[in-house]
Amino acid sequence: MQATAVNQTTQQVAAESHDPGLPGAGPRVGGPHPVTAIVQRLAEAFRPWGFAVRDLPLLATEQENFDLLGYPDDHPTRTQLTFSPVRGVVLRTHASSGIPAVLREATGPARSLLVGTCFRNERPSQFSSSQFTQIDGIAVEPGLGLPELVGLLEVMVGALFGPDHPWWLNRSHYPFTAVGFAVEVACPRCSGGCGECHGRGRVEIGSGGLLARDVLAACGCQDDWTAVSFGCSVERLLRLSHGVTDIRPLLGGDAGFLAQFD
Ligand SMILES: [Zn+2]
Repeated sequence: MQATAVNQTTQQVAAESHDPGLPGAGPRVGGPHPVTAIVQRLAEAFRPWGFAVRDLPLLATEQENFDLLGYPDDHPTRTQLTFSPVRGVVLRTHASSGIPAVLREATGPARSLLVGTCFRNERPSQFSSSQFTQIDGIAVEPGLGLPELVGLLEVMVGALFGPDHPWWLNRSHYPFTAVGFAVEVACPRCSGGCGECHGRGRVEIGSGGLLARDVLAACGCQDDWTAVSFGCSVERLLRLSHGVTDIRPLLGGDAGFLAQFD
């Protein structure tokens, strides 16, 4: 068979296999950005417990970002890692800076889930970014203590990793807590030790604590009021849960990269 005849046959087959009456492939249906999906998952988990989401603005006063939370003047986050566009105003370095407003505005028991984009003057790497998302929970009312904190952390860990996922508290220190803990969970990337958990089988995912009395007083809370807070960084959670080796593309809109979170 000559080449011309072969081409004609190929074109004929292609034309006959094309049925314009069949439905098209249709557009790919998107979903929430993975960061948004985590926020929505936590919001849904905490809604039955009376927590309402409060979106934080990008800017915070130095007073609410540091002073009212007990950060000393020489704290490294304050002196080395903060972007300050105007004197007395900073790009929010942590979602905890939303805590003073919740405490100040509380006229009765209050519970909020603070969601904010945060910024720190750090060199971007595959493990960290100068821009990231934090979620902090804050509950304020008389009589809150460690049992309530543990209960709320159980909700957080359960929403992120499932209800039976092992988790632990390690004593730690934060400027605004009287008693503070780092929250660790069983490493979601292995069952006994890997590079992600440095062979420990556990990874830190966030923090929690009882707020210090002087923080409550500085924000105008009554003497018998207590507060617990907890929080986590969303991009770090996504890196752990999906084994993402570089978190920087999470800031972009590459549909191919983001499809792995569907
Ligand atoms: Zn591991």
